[in-house]
Amino acid sequence: MGISRRQFLTGSAIATAAGALSLTGCAPSGKASSSQAPSDASIATMGSGMGKHGNIQIEVVTNGGKIERIDVVKSRETSGLGDTCMDKLSKLIVDNQTLNVDTVTGATLSSMAFLGAVSEALDSAGEKSSEWKKRDKALQPAPENLETTYDVIVIGTGGAGFTAAISAANKGKKVLLMEKLGVFGGSTALSGGEMAVPSNWIQSNLSIADSPATLAEDMLKGGDYRGDPELVNVIANGVFDAAQWLTFEGGVSWEHDLLFFGGHSVKRSIIPTGHIGNAMTTKLTTRAKTVDNITLIDNTKATELVKGADGRIGGVKATNTVTGDELSFTCKAVVMACGGFGANVEMRAKANPDFGEQFNSTDSVGAQGDGLDMASKIGAELIDMDLIQTYPICDVDNGALIYLDDMRLDERTIMFNKEGKRFVEELGRRDVLSKAILAQTGEMAYEIWDQKAADDTKVVDIHIDEFENLSSRKLCVKADTLEEVCEPFGIDAAELKKTVDTWNSYVDAGKDTEFNYRGKMSKISTPPYYVVAYKPAVHYTMGGLHINPKAEVLDASGTPIPGLFAAGEVAGHKMGTNRLGSTSMADIYTFGRVAGNNAADFVA
Ligand code: ADP
Repeated sequence: MGISRRQFLTGSAIATAAGALSLTGCAPSGKASSSQAPSDASIATMGSGMGKHGNIQIEVVTNGGKIERIDVVKSRETSGLGDTCMDKLSKLIVDNQTLNVDTVTGATLSSMAFLGAVSEALDSAGEKSSEWKKRDKALQPAPENLETTYDVIVIGTGGAGFTAAISAANKGKKVLLMEKLGVFGGSTALSGGEMAVPSNWIQSNLSIADSPATLAEDMLKGGDYRGDPELVNVIANGVFDAAQWLTFEGGVSWEHDLLFFGGHSVKRSIIPTGHIGNAMTTKLTTRAKTVDNITLIDNTKATELVKGADGRIGGVKATNTVTGDELSFTCKAVVMACGGFGANVEMRAKANPDFGEQFNSTDSVGAQGDGLDMASKIGAELIDMDLIQTYPICDVDNGALIYLDDMRLDERTIMFNKEGKRFVEELGRRDVLSKAILAQTGEMAYEIWDQKAADDTKVVDIHIDEFENLSSRKLCVKADTLEEVCEPFGIDAAELKKTVDTWNSYVDAGKDTEFNYRGKMSKISTPPYYVVAYKPAVHYTMGGLHINPKAEVLDASGTPIPGLFAAGEVAGHKMGTNRLGSTSMADIYTFGRVAGNNAADFVA
């Protein structure tokens, strides 16, 4: 029996059984060995590897001992991160006919899965991947003919950096946008992407009354009034325009629904299509590439801000992280958009010992606080550095954000502990939830929802890769009865049953007399049930560079450093002691525009 064009091999076991496929004749060529295939024939073999979001499968086409092509057949790796790294690695491998390549920084897991899959496919084709790994090393190419003089340099390609760069370029300025990792997007790409926008179009459809003043008050209150009201007002008053800008300039599209984030007084957070921040950063990457006067480069780490004799910013020194080459750029203004320091354990512990190595982090590996080091060396003031936020609902193994938690923000889950008891109001502030979780058995807790919630919200379908990943590690369980769903976790099922019955009685009564739940309550009564386990991880650093409402970076005397601007998580004093969910997107896109526009005007 012949095999069809797409029935390729998935590893050596199948290779031996079925043989590699000669593409010239579209017929199996017997045992998977190049010596048994016609020398002028192309052979397609498959390989697989476990990526960040499940199994990836690739097809390698070899001919006469050379790789002609590598195609990704199946992958759920994050768009803009995992897929970008696979594209880059494919090109490098094919162009240089070697497997001696480095992983792409910022997408290490996807890179390793991809390289493992290519090795497997090569072995199935009768090549020796171990030999290919010993060939000459190929490096990601540095940009060719890179100019060294710009009007504005923007450091970091999260939401703030893209927005600042596009805004400055749209004012006619020549912009360099640099990223130290091999992929763009920063922590923004890993976030849920939801954005608090008062008086938005969906709220008007749902007759939800809201205003910028209400958002400002919620943010200030949510941060115990430690945030700077002037900075908060810039965000609250500018975020509606920023959302419009993202839509029309950035090409971002939105779901027709809202989420209710903890600590907000009304439901106001718009959701990018796909429910993840990379839906924004991939669009912004595309946009930045089409704007003529933006030069966008990766693998370039800013290391030093250069001040001229006149005290103005005059340039940036940087290192190509692949080649190690030192680079020197001149410019008239810099926008720091390099994110926070949540991934830098040492810096965290120094800023506040309560948030040291005891916590994992949800952040991009790029969140190392480089911007704080560089700017403070030229006199910038750091503020609120000890204020660090954990996200309550994170993977207990690795600290990744659990996107299935959208179920809670969709008002469809209750939180409970190993003893089966609720212990906190589910829509409370992140710091309140985190503290409450850490006080439970095992410093962790659980959420439960039912099939009706899954059907109504589609949250499980949207995040099916995460559901499968957590399920494979028994950190999320779906089962027909409460007993079964509790069993793998050792949760007290009898007590959870009482808790769920009590919750359902609150739904009937229209009031939660225990914790005063602020959202719309729905019963949990339609099996199968889902339970997910979680614990807090460091998510956001509220401190950073001290800025004024024009996004100018201030020195210790409160005077702006001429030509130095900052936007996004690198800039502190906006969120007070605790950032409310979905206000980071509000901040980065609003202040990204302010910083980009003002940097452009400064240069003029
Ligand atoms: P924000 O949400 O404020 O936009 P993100 O964390 O999303 O911040 O993005 C910040 C980006 O800045 C990350 O991609 C990070 O890798 C990048 N970055 C951090 N430090 C540097 C540096 N020294 N040079 C270039 N890029 C940097």
